[in-house]
Amino acid sequence: MSAPPTATEIRAALEADAFIFYYQPKVSFLTGRITGGEALIRWRTPEGRIIPPAVFIQVAEDEGFISEITQRMFPRLLADYRIISTLTDGGGHVAFNVSAADLQHDTLVISIESALDRNEIPPDKLRLEVTEAAALSTSPSMREWVERLVKRGVDFAMDDFGTGYSSLDAIRQLPFATLKVDQGMVREMQTSERAAMLVHANVSLAQVLGMEAVAEGIETESIYRALMHSGCREGQGYWMSRPLPLDDYLALVQSGRTWPASHAGLLRSVLMSHVVELRRVMDWVYSARTMGPMPTTPDAVQQLTPLGERRRIAFSAWYEGAGQALRGQPAFESMRVPNEILNETYAAIQAEAARDTSPGELAPLLKKLSHYAVVLIGDLLRLESELLLEEMKR
Ligand code: C2E
Ligand code: MG
Ligand code: MG
Repeated sequence: MSAPPTATEIRAALEADAFIFYYQPKVSFLTGRITGGEALIRWRTPEGRIIPPAVFIQVAEDEGFISEITQRMFPRLLADYRIISTLTDGGGHVAFNVSAADLQHDTLVISIESALDRNEIPPDKLRLEVTEAAALSTSPSMREWVERLVKRGVDFAMDDFGTGYSSLDAIRQLPFATLKVDQGMVREMQTSERAAMLVHANVSLAQVLGMEAVAEGIETESIYRALMHSGCREGQGYWMSRPLPLDDYLALVQSGRTWPASHAGLLRSVLMSHVVELRRVMDWVYSARTMGPMPTTPDAVQQLTPLGERRRIAFSAWYEGAGQALRGQPAFESMRVPNEILNETYAAIQAEAARDTSPGELAPLLKKLSHYAVVLIGDLLRLESELLLEEMKR
């Protein structure tokens, strides 16, 4: 097929069930294990040829019937998920690509909700990757549909972040949990300093917004290792595995194969969130001093201190969670007391703020906060170098 297929040919293929999914594994940089797979559509011709999506997805987008494909493929995804979860001990998540056009009406949202209601897939095993996000003209109802799914525990990722198709505006409008860094940028990391810096800037951007970064298009081990240390959570690419037919994907997951792993990247993200939280409290007191009284309505206090909004300090969430894997590391052990003091001090500041205390009266608490925050920054950096030195020896 040299000319692009026509809408009629694509629709006929849909009717004939000629579309299937290949799955490409995503690997956690923290554990080196497969966390799940992205479902990537393929057209299987009667002669057994496999046609990649670049050829027909664009036609469907342009001719306005992409949603017919999505609607047809969602049940297929559920059927594949059932096999994956049965044969791979619970299995990982499945990521489903949806087009911006699929969110202009509620058909897909309703299908997903009823699949969740029927327990066909647990919400935390389904991720939706939105492509062509720049085409999103977000309406209040679209936001409501997306939020409805997010409330039920389904995560949205913005695909190809950093290309013309996805924009800052879209992450402002919709509650994405994940940014998928554009693969063009990832592939150029090795040859272009600028591309490498852009990847790191996007990872930081995700971090500041409380989102996760995922990288795709990893074709070499050295790019894998650079991303593993960057603060990205997961990676995907030909170096680990190409997209595979379902059976081959199952065999790969069942093999228990692992890739390099490191806690150093997570440390970098924790360091960043820790600094951002500290700055937010400082900025708040600063603006109160220069712009008038501090906002002390319960809402404002909730929003302005890290304890209020998420009820969890980023540092402590890590220390008490994933960080526990590092017990026994000297730098980790020295964080116990400063972590306790950090929690107490944030809580004290929050309590004082709710009592309408003046910035001057808060000064001793702020001093204590920054002292221990800085102690922890030192510990985090020390821990990072301990880990990197160990990795180099391996
Ligand atoms: P995507 O969602 O960004 O998917 C990643 C694409 O990058 C896949 O191409 C994958 O095979 C390719 N890829 C992954 N790792 C590497 C690598 O290391 N090097 C290189 N060169 N490529 C890599 P694929 O399967 O051809 O899909 C292309 C695009 O088609 C997808 O990009 C997605 O936008 C769209 N697509 C695929 N399946 C669906 C679907 O079910 N629905 C919709 N609406 N779009 C889909
Ligand atoms: Mg995708
Ligand atoms: Mg992509």
